[in-house]
Amino acid sequence: MSDNNNKIFGKIMRRIEAYRDDMIDFQIKLCSFPAISPESGGDGEAKKAEVLLDFLKKNNIKNVEVIKAQDLDASCGYRPNIIAKYPGSSSQKTIWIMTHMDVVPPGELSQWQGNPFKAWVEEGKIYGRGVEDNQQDMVASLFALKAFIAEGIKPKYDIGIVLVADEETGNKKGIDHVIKKTNPFRKQDLIIVPDAGNSHGTMIEVAEKSILWLKIKTLGKQAHGSTPEKGINSFRAASHFIQELDSLYKVFDHNDTLFSPPISTFEPTKKEQNAPNINTIPGEDIFYMDCRILPQYTIDEVKEKIKEISEKTISRFNVEICFSDEQNTPAAPPTPPDAPVVNALKKAVKDITGRDANPVGIGGGTVAAFFRNADYHAACWSTIADTAHQPNEYCIIDNMVSDAKVFAHIFLQK
Ligand SMILES: [Zn+2]
Repeated sequence: MSDNNNKIFGKIMRRIEAYRDDMIDFQIKLCSFPAISPESGGDGEAKKAEVLLDFLKKNNIKNVEVIKAQDLDASCGYRPNIIAKYPGSSSQKTIWIMTHMDVVPPGELSQWQGNPFKAWVEEGKIYGRGVEDNQQDMVASLFALKAFIAEGIKPKYDIGIVLVADEETGNKKGIDHVIKKTNPFRKQDLIIVPDAGNSHGTMIEVAEKSILWLKIKTLGKQAHGSTPEKGINSFRAASHFIQELDSLYKVFDHNDTLFSPPISTFEPTKKEQNAPNINTIPGEDIFYMDCRILPQYTIDEVKEKIKEISEKTISRFNVEICFSDEQNTPAAPPTPPDAPVVNALKKAVKDITGRDANPVGIGGGTVAAFFRNADYHAACWSTIADTAHQPNEYCIIDNMVSDAKVFAHIFLQK
């Protein structure tokens, strides 16, 4: 870095550090507007969006667009999505940071040590619903941008702040709507989604596995518990089948170290009640499989194999086995581990925290998949304690400030 660049960098970093208390105050303010989706019993993000629009206005950010997705279940009739742009020295690229405004319901209130919507500060942490997911990095991105405005320093490229609705309940009225409706994104842009991460900020999420949730119903014949020979025990057959399904690990054994864990996983999970009483041979049994499949394989080939494996159980126990998909989500095309957005994040994390961040694939699914399916190279990154959706959700204040510095670093990169 030249002396001048060093000077600029130092100014921005000091400015962000000085924002610490303002960032905490803004977190507490945002938290007092519970942006719960109508589907989860709330009234959406409109009031929280007003607070954010006010912030943008007060900071003299003029290029602001609100994209409304109709939702008659919200009292205002829509779900807001905000796009704010700030011009850089060059408009060849935009550095986008996307966070979501909606939060999940607080859950059992007795589990909270305070009011989830009256955020409180304790030992370097802010507690409250939404303070980590996703306000931590929403506030970090806004104050990173504010630092440039306050210092009168132009970022290298345009900065784009995207604040979306509906992330927690499917994205239809959020980023999906934005991409379909106005699509401000370009192939050469850098898209950062700080909605996944780890405690040291060393995980850059670039890929996901395909998700298959299977409901498996085994049909035998009900009988009295004392006369099993008169029936066909569906539970026994299903248990045998579950054992056989372990062979999926051997058949689909590809190992891809980009992913954590590096293999496809095939796990029996939920089990429905069969007979309500002990002295009945159950005629019907239902269990579920959660399969996370590496992109090397298709969901269909896994399903084919499962059917093939079931044949042995069917003929041995004389049962019927039926399958239905509870979820069938093919993995989005991965962001290449050497994509510009990944390199920019690596560089910034190294300079700010001294740590080495690396691209990783996870079991799925993140909101970045919407970008990847639309052929943009998006990366998820943040430094989080991973308390999302839990009672006493918190944000470590140092993480919020440090993430803001990482974003600012990227805004300065050539
Ligand atoms: Zn989130």
